[in-house]
Amino acid sequence: MFRQLMTLDEAKRIIDAQLGLKTLGAEEISLLQAYNRVLAEDVVATLDIPPFNRSTVDGYAVKAADTFGAEENQPVHLQICGSVSVGEAPKIIINAGEAAAIVTGAPLPEGADAVVMVEDTDIEGYVLSVYRAVTPNENVMKKGADIKKGETVLKAGQVLGASEIGALAALGLNKIKVFKIPLVAVLSTGAEVTEPGKALPDGKIYDINAYSLSTAVCESGGKPIYMGVVPDDTAALREALEHALTSADIVVTSGGVSVGPKDLTPQTIATLGKPGLLVCGIAVKPGKPTTIALVGEKPVFALPGHPASALLMFHLLVRPVIQRMAGRSMSEGKAVKALAATRMFSAKGRRTFVMVKLKPDDRKGLVAVPVESGASGAITTLAKAEGFVEIPENQQFIDAGEEVTVTLLKGAFMS
Ligand code: AMP
Ligand code: MG
Repeated sequence: MFRQLMTLDEAKRIIDAQLGLKTLGAEEISLLQAYNRVLAEDVVATLDIPPFNRSTVDGYAVKAADTFGAEENQPVHLQICGSVSVGEAPKIIINAGEAAAIVTGAPLPEGADAVVMVEDTDIEGYVLSVYRAVTPNENVMKKGADIKKGETVLKAGQVLGASEIGALAALGLNKIKVFKIPLVAVLSTGAEVTEPGKALPDGKIYDINAYSLSTAVCESGGKPIYMGVVPDDTAALREALEHALTSADIVVTSGGVSVGPKDLTPQTIATLGKPGLLVCGIAVKPGKPTTIALVGEKPVFALPGHPASALLMFHLLVRPVIQRMAGRSMSEGKAVKALAATRMFSAKGRRTFVMVKLKPDDRKGLVAVPVESGASGAITTLAKAEGFVEIPENQQFIDAGEEVTVTLLKGAFMS
């Protein structure tokens, strides 16, 4: 098959222009299922939080003015007129010279404007001695002080974590509209590729990509669907791809995209439907044979078999697509500056990604040390690497000691 390599930027432009990326719409879910989901609509408070003036301590609800002048050796005496507990509307009114016992979280009774802490009082019968004056609103959380009715509390696109979900609960919501999670079918290919957990016959290797790529799908905000391993056989591959397309919103395959006789993925994808192949090879290293297609409205990414190449290409091309479909902001990978530990060479005319470890150095700050260059088949390349250094297409090398930008891979894309 004739291959016209595109630049990485051209491939990204084609993804932007032709994949028609949008979210998959909203669904309503229970708040307990909301962790790490993306809000599909702004949330406006329909009530004040707290919904009433609330005591923040255990003590006595009073009129602050009644306590003025109270000191350790000169207490003010007030008459106990009742008590207020949590979870009920107060049935009493505080008049001048009166106080009511109150607990943390209970509503302030009418007439009171402050709470004296129990530690600053003594009680004998119905007479309360107050040894410390309070100011109006002291030890009181005012109605609406946390959230005001009408306020926009959370915005569409926000990812829900513990505190956001707490805020939704505070508003009394037990259901919430979130964007649907893109389903991503993950398919491995190759006669040698064996599912982990099974015996490993001679000449076979375990499937790495289905697992690393499925995890990367989760990190990107998608839900992976494991489609297993397909041998290098056109009919089997076609059937598996068709099944994947009906099961998911995006299909990601690995292996079988090079130019060997067993590399059948691109030509098989080409038969699945229009518009078909959009990108057949990218001028990058590693990851050159990466193929991208659109079948109907569903993107298909055929990544190389080498685990490190597959995962790198996923991060560069597939992750942003999943994020956009999931309604997530397209956070760029986090990056740090470091000094190149050695000269790093590029592949002529191709955007080159050098996997590096970061080492602290007393004099130079951070140093970027390449991990086993040229071994894109090794999963350890990625496992050892903290990130990658990018060398532009037209640059031959980065010299030792030059400042480089290291894009971090580990967890950097998790939101
Ligand atoms: P291919 O692109 O199919 O020629 O595969 C390139 C290299 O990656 C070969 O050494 C394959 O055995 C290896 N490979 C392909 N798929 C996987 C996989 N799912 N897990 C681990 N290694 C793989
Ligand atoms: Mg193969």
